[in-house]
Amino acid sequence: MTSFVQIVVNVPSVAGIFDYAVPESLAGKIGVGHLVIVPFGKQTAQGVVFRFIDQPSVQEVKEIHELVDPEPVLTQAQIALAETMAESTLSPLAAVVGLFLPVGLSQQVDTVYEIREQKVESRGAVNSKTISPQTQRQTIEDRILSLLKMRGPLRGRQIDTHFARVEWRRTAQFMVRKGVLSSRSILPPPRVRSKFIRVAQLAVPPEEAESEMLNLGTKQTLARRQSALRFLIQQRDAINLSWVYAQSGCNLADLQELEERGLIRLFESEIFRDPLQRVESRGVASSQKLELTPEQSFALKEINKAISSIDTRHPFLLQGVTGSGKTEIYLRAAEVVVKRGKQALILVPEIALTPQTVRRFLSRFPGQVGIVHSKLSEGERYDTWRRARSGKLKVIIGARSALFVPLPNIGLIVADECHDASFHQAEPPFYNAVNAAQAYARLCGAVCVLGSATPTIEQRYQADTKQIRQLDLPKRIVQAEMPPVHIVDMRDELKAGQRGIFSRLLLKELESTLKRGEQAILFLNRRGTATYIFCRDCGHVLKCPNCETPLTLHTENKERLLCHHCGYERGKPKNCPQCGGKQIREYGLGSEKVEEEINTLFPKARTLRWDWDTTRQKDAHEMILTHFANHQADVLIGTQMLAKGLDLPLVTLVGIVLADVGLSLPDPFAGERVFQVLTQVAGRAGRSERGGKVVLQSFDPAQPVIQFAAQHDVNGFYQYELEQRKRLGYPPFTRLLRVEYRDQDQVSAEKEAKHVAEKISANSKQSSALIGPVPCFFAKVNGEYRWQIILRGARPQELLRGVKLDGWRVEVDPVSLL
Ligand code: ADP
Ligand code: ZN
Repeated sequence: MTSFVQIVVNVPSVAGIFDYAVPESLAGKIGVGHLVIVPFGKQTAQGVVFRFIDQPSVQEVKEIHELVDPEPVLTQAQIALAETMAESTLSPLAAVVGLFLPVGLSQQVDTVYEIREQKVESRGAVNSKTISPQTQRQTIEDRILSLLKMRGPLRGRQIDTHFARVEWRRTAQFMVRKGVLSSRSILPPPRVRSKFIRVAQLAVPPEEAESEMLNLGTKQTLARRQSALRFLIQQRDAINLSWVYAQSGCNLADLQELEERGLIRLFESEIFRDPLQRVESRGVASSQKLELTPEQSFALKEINKAISSIDTRHPFLLQGVTGSGKTEIYLRAAEVVVKRGKQALILVPEIALTPQTVRRFLSRFPGQVGIVHSKLSEGERYDTWRRARSGKLKVIIGARSALFVPLPNIGLIVADECHDASFHQAEPPFYNAVNAAQAYARLCGAVCVLGSATPTIEQRYQADTKQIRQLDLPKRIVQAEMPPVHIVDMRDELKAGQRGIFSRLLLKELESTLKRGEQAILFLNRRGTATYIFCRDCGHVLKCPNCETPLTLHTENKERLLCHHCGYERGKPKNCPQCGGKQIREYGLGSEKVEEEINTLFPKARTLRWDWDTTRQKDAHEMILTHFANHQADVLIGTQMLAKGLDLPLVTLVGIVLADVGLSLPDPFAGERVFQVLTQVAGRAGRSERGGKVVLQSFDPAQPVIQFAAQHDVNGFYQYELEQRKRLGYPPFTRLLRVEYRDQDQVSAEKEAKHVAEKISANSKQSSALIGPVPCFFAKVNGEYRWQIILRGARPQELLRGVKLDGWRVEVDPVSLL
C-alpha cells in the first residue's frame, strides 16, 4: 500500500506544506524528519518530511524522488519547534525549516551518477513523432548515457545544466534500479584549517624606519605605507597581515614594497600563541575544587531539581553581574545533564567575543564540545552537525543558530547574556533565539536557563509575573565591589574652556593608568552617531512638538530636522529654544577621531581600535582581543563589542566618552539598550585585585538611565523603565508588530505603505493600535527606501487579517523600531 507524507519544501518563499507519495523503492526508508528531493512545480526541491498522513488532500500526488540522507535531519522536537516558530513569528514554515538545515547539507549534498555496465550502447535518435511516455524515458535515458559516457561520473547539478527543464532524475533513478547506473550521495569533506599565517615585522631599528618615513612612495601610496610602517614600529612582535591591513588601511603591495626597501620582514608564522589560555587557566585549573558560594549553591540546587523532575519545567532567569559565578553554574548544570546521558546547548551572543566561556566548557568537557559559529567552513559545520545528531557531542556552544543543531536528547538550554540583541535575528525569518529556546525547552522537556547582568525589561517582567523563576547572584566573586562610576558633566567642561573630547578627569585618570602600566578601555556608542541635535550649552534635545520624539538631522538634500514618528519637519534653528544659546550641534564622534586624539595627547600609548572598520577581516575579533589581553596595546577604543563578557584583569579604567549617544533615538527601546550597554561596559573595569574606576561623560547627567547605570542599579532601572512603558503603552504591556516595506523607488514605497496602512486601519477600532506609516529611522538601506507601520495591542497580528502583504517584511515583537 502506498503511504503518503506531508513535506515542507525548502523554497523559502513557499509557505505551505505539501502532500507526496512514497514510491515503492523508498518504502520503509522514509521517516519523519528525513530530507528528500521532490518534484516541485517545474523544478526539483529539497524538502523535509513532517508527518505521515492517511489520505492526500489532492488528487494528483507526486512521488518523492530521492532520499538525501539515510538519517533524519530534523528530530521530532525540532519539527515541533519549527511549527511553533512559524506560527508565533508569522514566517513561512519553509523559511523556518531552512534555519535547521546545515548550509553544507542543504547546498552541497548531491548525487553522483556513474555508468555501471561498461557495454551499454546508445540506442541512437528516436523518431520524435512517436513519443509515448515509454519512449520519452528512453530518450532521456539515452541522453544521460551518452552524457556520462562522454564526461565520466557527474553530479546531479552538473547534469542539470544539460537538461534545461527536463525531469531527468526519475529516469536516472529508474536506471539505477535497473543496474545501469550507480548513484551515491556525496558531501564535501571538512576543510582543513591552515595552521600558518602570514605575518609582518619591523626589520630595522625604529629610528631608521622613522627616517625613511617621507620617501616611501607616491602621493597615492605614501599615507598608507606610512601608516603601516608606523603601526609596525609600535609593535614588538610579528603581526598577522590581516591585522596590519585593518589597522593601517594598507594592502599587500604596500607591505611588499616596504619589504623590498628592507624596512620590514614578511614571513609565515605558526598561528599566534594563545594568551587567553593564560588568563583562563587560573579559573579552569581550580574550577573542580571550587566551593560554590551560598547563592550559587542555592541557584544550582533549584536548577538541578528541575533537571531531575519529570513535571513541566519553567525557565530560570539567573541575574548576576559578570564575575558573579553564572558560568560556573552553567558548567555544573551541564555536568548533571551529561551524566544523565543528555546533551546541553549553550547559546552565547557571539563566539568570537566569548572565548573565555568557550574555553571553560572545552576544558570541562574535553572532546565532547561542538562549537557552532559563522566562521566555520561548510565542511566543519556539517561535521559538527553530524556528530551532534549522532549524540557524540554532549555540549554545543554557539550563537543563535546553534539552537538549530539536532540533538537527540536535550536536557539543558542556556542563553547566556540573554539580553543581547544578537539573539534576535533582524533579517527574515525574524525570530528571537531566547524566546525560541524557551519554547524548545518546553517541547523537549529540557530546562532553560537565561543568564544576564542586565536582563531585558520583558525578561524581568516574565520573572515578576512568574513565567520565569528568577535566581539572583548579587555580587562578584573575586573583587566584590563594583567599580565606582564618576559622572562628568560635559557642560561644565565647556564652561571651563575644555573643548576637547576628554574631560579633565578622564585625562588625569588616563595618564595615571598608563603610568602604572595598566590598561584602559574607551567606549563609544556606535548607534545614532551624528543623527540628532542638541544644545551644547544647556543639553536640550530638539524634539517633535506633536510626539516628543527627538528630531533627527537629515542632510541628504537640504539640512532639515525630521520626526520619524509623525513626519513633522522643520529647519535647523539658529538658537536653542530653551536657553537661546547659539551652540546647536549634532552629536557626532567616531572611534577614529578618539584614537587620533589619544595618539596626540599620549604619543607613547599603544592604541587599538575595535569597531566595525577593524573587524571586517576574518578572525579580527580574536586578534584584537588577543593583542589587548597580551598587553600589546594600552588603550582599547571600541564600540558595542566592548560590552560583552570580557575578563581583562589589567583594565583598571573605563572611559565612557559620551554616555548620551543613543538615548534620544526615536525608539521605545532606546533607553533600555543604552542602560544595558553602559552597565555592561562599566562592569569591565576593576575585574582584579587592582581595582578600577569608570569615568562617564555626559551632556545631560540627570537622565535616569545614566544615573541608574552609574549606580549599577539594574533593579532600579527596571522599575523606572517599566513605569515608562506602562504610561506609553509599550511592551511588556502591549505587543508590537512591525511591517516594513522596501522599494528602490521612494514614491512607490510611500504609496504602498499608505495603501497597506489604510487596509490595516480598516481592521482597527483603536487609533493607538497603529503607528505610521512613516519612513524608518534608517530611511534608506542598500539603495532601498524603508517605510514601516507599527501595530500594537494584545494581539496585533489580528489587524493583518485579510491584508495582502506581498513583499513586506513582517516582524513580530521587534526589539528596535529604527
Ligand atoms: P559569570 O559567568 O557570572 O561572569 P563566572 O562563573 O565566570 O561568572 O565566575 C567568575 C570567576 O570566578 C571565574 O574565574 C570563576 O572561575 C570564578 N568562580 C566562580 N565561582 C566561584 C566560586 N564559588 N569560588 C571561587 N571562584 C569562583
Ligand atoms: Zn512627531
